[in-house]
Amino acid sequence: MLREAELRVTRQRLAVLSAVHARPHSDTDSVIRTVRQDLPEVSHQAVYDVLKALTGAGLLRRIEPAGSVARYESRTGDNHHHVVCRSCGAIADVDCAVGHTPCLTASDDRGFAIDEAEVTYWGTCSSCSTTSS
Ligand SMILES: [Zn+2]
Ligand SMILES: [Zn+2]
Repeated sequence: MLREAELRVTRQRLAVLSAVHARPHSDTDSVIRTVRQDLPEVSHQAVYDVLKALTGAGLLRRIEPAGSVARYESRTGDNHHHVVCRSCGAIADVDCAVGHTPCLTASDDRGFAIDEAEVTYWGTCSSCSTTSS
């Protein structure tokens, strides 16, 4: 993936990529924790820079639901949406409701070249709704 994106392959980049692959929607702190299992000396700033580079290259997607810190995932380019639990903050992927990325076709694009539509569904996840009932 790194070579295809014309990025130099480094241990830090590999570690960050596989951390996000293993746990989609990870925030920066949990990516750092996972990466440090393999590279104990890696700095917060280094991981932050790698996340930024990989996101810029399109290998990672950054999402930031209201009230949440930024989270990263390796499922990119398909414009999928997210459902977020109001109670525990759990996040799950949701495909577009109709066919392939139809949400990119705005009713009026206002002259913008649109490349992403971000839809966030809010609700209560199944384990939170079980606990409260
Ligand atoms: Zn929940
Ligand atoms: Zn996702």
